[in-house]
Amino acid sequence: MFFFFVGGLDQRVARVLQTGAGRCVRCGSLSDLVETEKVLKLFFVPVKTWPSKTGPSLSCTNCGLLFPPSLSPPPPPPRETDGSAADLISRRCCSCDRVLDPGFRFCPFCGSEI
Ligand SMILES: [Zn+2]
Ligand SMILES: [Zn+2]
Repeated sequence: MFFFFVGGLDQRVARVLQTGAGRCVRCGSLSDLVETEKVLKLFFVPVKTWPSKTGPSLSCTNCGLLFPPSLSPPPPPPRETDGSAADLISRRCCSCDRVLDPGFRFCPFCGSEI
């Protein structure tokens, strides 16, 4: 029989996988993608730890909230373009529609004058 059982399961950050991977659902600050582990505490002393089965979580750098990445709004878009934005500023060949270096006068793919 359990009595005077002072303890419980805690979740804590085991290691940081990626800093600034998301934003906090509570305060909107940048949050780190972290691997969490569960800690069994007995009389406030950690007696056992094991990896959490829930996968990576996000940990707010400001308020310390742990939450699943699916709850986070996407992080601000990275600087590097994913292709679509680059296409808008790149020149394309008008006959074969391939992206060309701006310095080209003739398309190296089909030979058309640009
Ligand atoms: Zn927060
Ligand atoms: Zn071409």
